[in-house]
Amino acid sequence: MTSGPYQTERSAELRSRAQRVLPGGVNSNVRLLAPAVFFDHGSGSRLVDIDGNEYVDYLLGQGPNFLGHAPADILDAVDAATRRGMVYGAQHPLELEAAELMIDALGWPDKVRFGVSGTESIQAALRMARAVTGRPRFVRFEGHYHGWLDNTLAAVENGRAVPASAGQLASHLEDSIMLPWNDLAAVEAVLARHDDIAAVLMEPTMLNAGSIEPLPNYLEGVRAVCDAAGVVLIFDEVISGFRVAAGGAAQRYGVTPDMATYGKAMAGGWPVSALAGTGAMMERFGTGEVNHSGTFNASVMACAATAATLHRLAADPPYERIAQLGTRLKDGLAELAIGHGLDLNIQGVPMAFHAGFGAGPVTDYRSLGRLDADAYAAFSHTLIAHGVWVAGRGIWYLSAAHDDADIDETLQRVDAAMKATVS
Ligand code: PLP
Repeated sequence: MTSGPYQTERSAELRSRAQRVLPGGVNSNVRLLAPAVFFDHGSGSRLVDIDGNEYVDYLLGQGPNFLGHAPADILDAVDAATRRGMVYGAQHPLELEAAELMIDALGWPDKVRFGVSGTESIQAALRMARAVTGRPRFVRFEGHYHGWLDNTLAAVENGRAVPASAGQLASHLEDSIMLPWNDLAAVEAVLARHDDIAAVLMEPTMLNAGSIEPLPNYLEGVRAVCDAAGVVLIFDEVISGFRVAAGGAAQRYGVTPDMATYGKAMAGGWPVSALAGTGAMMERFGTGEVNHSGTFNASVMACAATAATLHRLAADPPYERIAQLGTRLKDGLAELAIGHGLDLNIQGVPMAFHAGFGAGPVTDYRSLGRLDADAYAAFSHTLIAHGVWVAGRGIWYLSAAHDDADIDETLQRVDAAMKATVS
């Protein structure tokens, strides 16, 4: 913690203990740059650390806590179900309920396969696309994240994908072609030039970097060129699914993929992912022709959490309310920044918007570089020290548990953090 009123001595003690047994004191590299705060518990929109400090949470575990922390109905459903067993390595009725609810909510897929993480469901989608087309490569886009494995993790250098980690096999990145997103001509040109493309894989709305929405007619255009070239269109809806609309980005923007991956918001915080797709394609898993396996796939707890979450989202859709709250928060942040003379660009959908220092709006991944990422990362630590828990990379997630009082209190805390920043 670098500034602000919160004291985190007990966290600091645990931090040195953590450094002894966990590399970097963390269990995901994404957490290396965040303040070393240890949490005692979360409830609804709030987190409480082990020093007793309370935060309004806009990280939401990087997205999964779409219903807020520790939602009682989801916990009760998981508790009741798991008292009868947790992992059967065989079928059980709850996996049908979860699958049927998911297909109903999304509207377009015929079948789903559950997994544990977004990373692995994306691999299943790529394997299926290759099996269906008999082609090896796929097209992907600058700024889109599809998990940490060798064939998807990438940094971009001069428009080319390069390894983002020591130990990563650069040769695995040769399986894909990296393009700028929201540029239909670039997709058309690549699919015209190459006949070895199995799939186009994208976040249908770029929430990971900048919260940039698809341009009008872009998704429709990509859909049409994929159809013309016999290429499988895969939407990575791991963030956008069940968050930007009940039917995810496919519903919000009205374009249907051949397959899509889900995770995060779909299960009220439980670790579960899914691959959804059209029947003929997905059935190749069913015949055994395409392998997709996993000990923990469709565990009782994952299915109970998914079913309970999807029941809640269908019975009480929070989307309009979250959109209103997110818009209030965006407007309030912008107003405060102007008042403090800070050049803060805020943009994107209210359920997962982006904030960064510098001139906006940012309309593509490359111009995100115009924003001062280091200054914002430092500011995120100041926000956290004032009781607003946010990601250092600029994304702000809202949940169904946030309310107007949270927004009021958040804006007061942001005001104090901005005062500390400019003083
Ligand atoms: N796809 C997107 C768009 C993501 O944001 C993420 C994770 O942040 C993933 C895939 C990977 O999901 P997981 O971390 O569950 O493996």
